[in-house]
Amino acid sequence: MTAATAMTATTTIQNLIDGRFAPASGGAIISVYDPATGSLIATAPDSTAHDIDAAVDAAAAAFPAWHALGAPARAAQLRTLADLVERDADEFARVESLDTGKPLALARSIDIPRAISNLRFFADAVVADEGETFENAQSRSAVHHRALGVAACISPWNLPLYLFTWKIAPALAAGCTVVGKPSEVTPLTAWMLARLCVEAGFPRGVVNIVQGRGLLSGAALVAHPRVACITFTGGTATGESIARAAAPSFKRTALELGGKNPALVFADAAGPAQLQATVEGIVRAAFTNQGQVCHCASRILVERSAWDVFVPALVERTKRLRVGDPLDATTDIGALVSGQHLLKVAAAVDAARRDGATIHCGGVRVDPAMLPERIRAGAFYPPTLMSDLATTARANQEEIFGPVATLIPFESDAEAIAIANGTRYGLSATVWTNDDARASRIASQLDCGTVWINSWMVRDLRVPIGGMHASGLGREGGREALHFFAEPVAVVRANTST
Ligand code: NDP
Repeated sequence: MTAATAMTATTTIQNLIDGRFAPASGGAIISVYDPATGSLIATAPDSTAHDIDAAVDAAAAAFPAWHALGAPARAAQLRTLADLVERDADEFARVESLDTGKPLALARSIDIPRAISNLRFFADAVVADEGETFENAQSRSAVHHRALGVAACISPWNLPLYLFTWKIAPALAAGCTVVGKPSEVTPLTAWMLARLCVEAGFPRGVVNIVQGRGLLSGAALVAHPRVACITFTGGTATGESIARAAAPSFKRTALELGGKNPALVFADAAGPAQLQATVEGIVRAAFTNQGQVCHCASRILVERSAWDVFVPALVERTKRLRVGDPLDATTDIGALVSGQHLLKVAAAVDAARRDGATIHCGGVRVDPAMLPERIRAGAFYPPTLMSDLATTARANQEEIFGPVATLIPFESDAEAIAIANGTRYGLSATVWTNDDARASRIASQLDCGTVWINSWMVRDLRVPIGGMHASGLGREGGREALHFFAEPVAVVRANTST
């Protein structure tokens, strides 16, 4: 931990605009709470359209020089930032856990290492991306990528630093300058990153981080005429409003939205040799980060012949997950991100109950008396499994984004595929079987951007990731992400004069 990043009991977060830290222009603030204890931990600027104007102006002014710097120099700057985040990784993990309620162990093992990898990955990727050349009898063509300008990077609360860096790293590597808007619910690690951007020596205006509410500063950023492109991760309804706001000015948009991801469990993956591994895999896919990962499996489709073996084993394992203090190393399930989100999750389960669900475990808010005193006011909801719902029921169609999954039986491959594809979403799926040919066949028929076989969230950052239908537009990761922030320009030479 260094003086640059240490958080005090109640931190006053500021914006980073044009290389300077400042409160919101109107002076308004947003209170930030630790969802595990309910305590106030920080105040953040409630920024206005005026702050967005200043940030976009600074980013636009910084763009020509940043772009002209060239890929190797931009990559070096990103690597310096990655080194600083790594230096302060323990403090970043502590603060991410405090801000989100997620287990500290998860922030340490996933969120912060992945944020560091994002910065390094895109530094390497832009240097390796030499453009393409094509030659035929008539011509030689070289295609290079020219950065678009000011990129708006808007990120959600579930994986705050992980997803914020997943956006700003390719934007900066490609040569764009950035105005970032983290979620108002979890502003802390973006604020720590802002200070490290200054320490890393980014030129003024290259990275601007404006904190505030989506409906005020987020909407102003999306509508700003000098923003060239928008990369957004968040809910589908917000994505739709962003697509509408961006359309009149033809801004390029990448939208990573919600999901209702199926896990297809075939009987051969529930045989004696595989049962435990499959159960562990599904528990991880459904409940990691309290189920608040866009790729979490929220519909578990189980082949009917395996139901009586697989479902009891899954329920028994789920009941053994430890809900508790995020700071306790033995905790599996921490707090949901806020008391407000807890009410939404609880309401969705209550609605499912009214729709006739059988609740196998969980299903009611954790009794505060069962929790250690420090976290009795926290937003804790237990992992919940339910069945006996129509595939058209709300709990099988609408994203809940909490530790809640439904169980649905199926009889055949065709029925499993039909159920899996039977929502408006198309983000990801998992397929659990020992039959690799069957897995490939099923994967090719699932309408979604990623299919994991006997695994979940195993990632190679070169692979494009994103959704179909209501799960979004465009892909992040790999070259797709770098090229999103740039215009391909072809320079063509004739082989013979005409
Ligand atoms: P939201 O859509 O509510 O918010 C996402 C971001 O957009 C926040 O920074 C928010 O600010 C901002 N925002 C809200 N309204 C506007 C607006 N009108 N204009 C511009 N910006 C706006 O999502 P959540 O933060 O609640 O995140 C959860 C959602 O994210 C889930 O639906 C989940 O599936 C999805 N998600 C998708 C992923 C994917 O890769 N497909 C990955 C992770 C999450 P503020 O918070 O201040 O309102």
